[in-house]
Amino acid sequence: MDFDLSPELADLRRRVRAFIDTHVIPVERVIVEEDSRLDHTTLKGLQARARAEGLWTPHLPVEHGGKGLGIMGMCALFREMGRSMVGARVFNCDAPDQGNMDLLLSSASEVLQKRYLAPLAAGEITSAFCMTEPAPGAGADPSNLKTMATQDGDSWVIDGHKWYSTGGGLASFLIVMARTSDDPRLGASMFLVDRHAPGVEHVRDIPVMGPPLLAHREAEMKFHQVRVGKDAILGSIGEGFRLAQKRLVPARLTHCMRWLGLAERTLSMCRQYLGTRLSFGKVLAHHQLIQKMIADNALAIHAGNLMTLHCAYLLEKGLTKEARPYSSMAKNHVARLLCQVLDDAIQMHGGLGYSEDAPFSLWYRGARAARIADGPDEVHQVVIAREFLLGNLDLLV
Ligand SMILES: Cc1cc2nc3c(=O)[nH]c(=O)nc-3n(C[C@H](O)[C@H](O)[C@H](O)COP(=O)(O)OP(=O)(O)OC[C@H]3O[C@@H](n4cnc5c(N)ncnc54)[C@H](O)[C@@H]3O)c2cc1C
Repeated sequence: MDFDLSPELADLRRRVRAFIDTHVIPVERVIVEEDSRLDHTTLKGLQARARAEGLWTPHLPVEHGGKGLGIMGMCALFREMGRSMVGARVFNCDAPDQGNMDLLLSSASEVLQKRYLAPLAAGEITSAFCMTEPAPGAGADPSNLKTMATQDGDSWVIDGHKWYSTGGGLASFLIVMARTSDDPRLGASMFLVDRHAPGVEHVRDIPVMGPPLLAHREAEMKFHQVRVGKDAILGSIGEGFRLAQKRLVPARLTHCMRWLGLAERTLSMCRQYLGTRLSFGKVLAHHQLIQKMIADNALAIHAGNLMTLHCAYLLEKGLTKEARPYSSMAKNHVARLLCQVLDDAIQMHGGLGYSEDAPFSLWYRGARAARIADGPDEVHQVVIAREFLLGNLDLLV
């Protein structure tokens, strides 16, 4: 693998990093505070600036207003954006919209793209992805899918109950996974549903451990006899599980990129405190137990970075199937390292770390979801072990 960035990409990366440092980090607390009142004045100002500086939706193809970066290029920029919890949204690169844009690009008709992708890419609307259901429905095991779509003439009628549809309450449209037959492989399909269509109920935003922030509000949704036309089908009937994989593999890698950025910033912030706080006659940075925590976290971030880059490299080469277990490795490792880095940052900052004067407890509460969302740790470990036992992992690549 060649780790050098092209001069254009290196320049973009430098500009995104400078943007985050100069414009986003100084006001990130203001954005969080405004968002609690659903006021997005400061965020919108930054989004306008990102647009003016040519940094808006860089992941999209040029004809859709982006820079056609490819997933390796996304790695370079998304890590920088992820250094702030609100960074990705400033550039319209946040989950779930970014993964949904990709899905619409690859699987929606031209009509749907015009109606939904164009305003989503412009940042005028937001979207949600509705797969998970309360027990006994689809969760870590998507084959438990209970939401049904039944054909009625030229329409499909959707009935079901979803939760953890991130951003579903505020979204303009939802991508809904529903059962369309009993076939274990071809029994699910994806439908694009207008959020305000008759029968779509936003039950509540679930109170969760992390703070509700921008799109990251976990909606519980019910679908009561929601009627959609056949033009609402993404891909074709029976392709739901395949499309879910297609969306989830790169989408979980983009999570890794953003999480790596936050982990790197957290560890860098520790340097400042550890280098100045005196304890037992020397600064904390000179205590070996502290150095061990720093070393463990630096190692973990670097390993996660390499796993993410390697998986992105496979995806960029079109080796989607081969990339799958490596995406599980990256997701499992980076989610855990993010939680560890934040937990250790709290520890190394003592009372300050535990307080809301420092950002780590807020970030930790949000980060803890990383080990559950997009497949819990254990499911990724099952995939890694299975692929290893089948001889499909090249650990010395
Ligand atoms: C913040 C957040 C945002 C989310 N956003 C979305 C979204 O936008 N759209 C969406 O559709 N879903 C979303 N999810 C849902 C997420 O994908 C599911 O929570 C996840 O897939 C696990 O499903 P579950 O919660 O039903 O857990 P369950 O299936 O009930 O599993 C519970 C636990 O059992 C263990 N487990 C499960 N399977 C195995 C196994 N094979 N071996 C060993 N242990 C196992 C794991 O520890 C797991 O955490 C989000 C979740 C969170 C927390």
